[in-house]
Amino acid sequence: MTVGCGGGASGAELGAKLIELGRLVDVVNLQFSSVAAEFAQTDEYDQEGFDSPISWIKANCHLAGGAAGDRVCAGEQLDRLGESEVALAEGRIGFAHFALLAKTAAAVGERFDETKLLRKAEKLSVRSFRNACMHARHAADPDGFVNEEKQGVEARSLTMSTADDGTVLLNCILDKVGGAAVQTALEPLAKRAGKDDDRLRDRRLADALVDIAMHALDTGLVPQRTHLQVTTSLETLLGLSGAPAAEMEFSLPISAKAVERLACDCSVTRILLGSDSTVIDVGRARRVISGPQRKALNVRDRGCVWPGCDRPASWTSGHHLVHWIRNGSTDLPNLTLLCYRHHWMVHEGDWQIVRTDVGSILTIPPITSFQQPPRGPD
Ligand SMILES: [Zn+2]
Ligand SMILES: [Zn+2]
Repeated sequence: MTVGCGGGASGAELGAKLIELGRLVDVVNLQFSSVAAEFAQTDEYDQEGFDSPISWIKANCHLAGGAAGDRVCAGEQLDRLGESEVALAEGRIGFAHFALLAKTAAAVGERFDETKLLRKAEKLSVRSFRNACMHARHAADPDGFVNEEKQGVEARSLTMSTADDGTVLLNCILDKVGGAAVQTALEPLAKRAGKDDDRLRDRRLADALVDIAMHALDTGLVPQRTHLQVTTSLETLLGLSGAPAAEMEFSLPISAKAVERLACDCSVTRILLGSDSTVIDVGRARRVISGPQRKALNVRDRGCVWPGCDRPASWTSGHHLVHWIRNGSTDLPNLTLLCYRHHWMVHEGDWQIVRTDVGSILTIPPITSFQQPPRGPD
């Protein structure tokens, strides 16, 4: 088998070759589907100890579950999809279109109108055609459509597991409506915050999820327990060397920096332990930013003060410019609003934030080793 066009092929020649290869792959996929459907009629998978033909195909043909299922379905519906088979052979639709036609045919049964839907498949991208198929399914069988949605809700699941280093792994399955709600809530929070925000999208989405959790805790949306509970010693809070880490409910021990941030606006229920391990200060004491103070702070700062950040006040923490641990006062001139991420950047990320004499905010990045000023000749 020869691969490629040989050296020196033009872009247009390579493009033509790709289209031709893509069509061949589609045709082979359809042949695969036909055999897969036939295979599914046998009990070979059972003989070999698999729970379904799709599991067998997944394992032996190196496919994801969805891809294996699509092929079996495409093969099963092949007899009803004569026009579509021709369209695929002629390169007017791809295999992904064909698989969607097959799934729709299987779902709506007698009411399936191949000609009408194929016309759409020829015009639409795979993604848009998926929507068109959903509409066709709804039109043909609204009750079945609702039932599928109900099943989707019943199948919701979220598992949380903790790795050895305390990292929490989330694995979540949501129905389309629930998923859309989560996505709609996360997306605006996952936008880049300012031009210097170089977080990747995955990171921004994860940050957004944590933001929502913090916001829920801060605003009392979580009915029973509205504050993170941290147990720490004064030595840890002061960042003294040799101090133990702090403890937080549902987490492995956390660093002094994290405690410093959480304690900064006192959104944690603090339990400070003296050197003899007795509780010396339970709950939110005098460093709490009081209700009226927080209101005045919200009016003054309106939201996160970080340049370029647009998080409103309800999505922020009150930050002490000089931490109360180091005798900073809990008065307006020493307080400022920062969103959860920028608050994190100041405490754990070692950024500095300074209010100038004219009241504007300056942010200074941490000095990293490669930014250190060059040393003069010895
Ligand atoms: Zn702070
Ligand atoms: Zn911010």
